[in-house]
Amino acid sequence: MEKRRCAACRKLFHPRPQSPEQKFCSASECQRERKRRWQRARRATDPDYRDNDVQANRQWRSRHPGYWRAYRCRHPELVIRNRDKQRERDRARRLKAPQPPPTSHLANEDASTLSFFLETGTYRMIPVTGEDLANEDACLVKIALVSGG
Ligand SMILES: [Zn+2]
Repeated sequence: MEKRRCAACRKLFHPRPQSPEQKFCSASECQRERKRRWQRARRATDPDYRDNDVQANRQWRSRHPGYWRAYRCRHPELVIRNRDKQRERDRARRLKAPQPPPTSHLANEDASTLSFFLETGTYRMIPVTGEDLANEDACLVKIALVSGG
């Protein structure tokens, strides 16, 4: 059988005889990508699948409170990347339809918002560890005012 180029890694592979339409090689990363694309397409076209997905995600989050908050604390670079990409999507949406963006456009309902006001200035972030943490998932820092605006 002829070789084909994988839709994910772009390497050549032999399609399995059982699946002549195979577009992804058998590497696990490529199979995960295949599943991701299938799910994305399914969510976009099947309202029942999307509703079920939303419901399952909501239940998972309620069984794992604080997971995403802790995840964002562990991966600040991903928080920045996600925010930049969301800004890009917001900008593209504004260009497409010139109207004000919705007030809430966060993909994750668990996203925290600052409910207090901080003066403009330079702050030193000091990690706090130990038994004073009520929730081990929490990312707690002490903010000390170094200079005012
Ligand atoms: Zn591949």
